[in-house]
Amino acid sequence: MFMDDCLDGTIPTGSRDAEIDKAVEAWHNIAGNTQPLNQFLGMTDLEYAIWAEQPNLLSDIIFARKKNKGICTKNHPNSNPKAIHTDYEVLRTTEDWEYGQMFDDCRCRVCGALFDIAH
Ligand SMILES: [Zn+2]
Repeated sequence: MFMDDCLDGTIPTGSRDAEIDKAVEAWHNIAGNTQPLNQFLGMTDLEYAIWAEQPNLLSDIIFARKKNKGICTKNHPNSNPKAIHTDYEVLRTTEDWEYGQMFDDCRCRVCGALFDIAH
């Protein structure tokens, strides 16, 4: 799957754009395919929506997944990476007892998006 191959390094950074084009073509060529393209690629609906609109953010999308960072639905022209909320306020921190993990509920100061960061 495209995203997994990017995350584990099977697809090197420099080949991502070419490989995603090949993956999309492969998806088109599956007879009677009912699987949505984003699932075939291993992307969430949000990741796919961002990539479809701004394919130049592919590396940011993969970086965000790797680092478990909140990903932006809007481009942040002055941030690097461009698809990640880098300027945000933490609204509150909660603990998920079941998983023993802490979550920060955050709001992006640039686009206003709400997201959480697990740590
Ligand atoms: Zn944002």
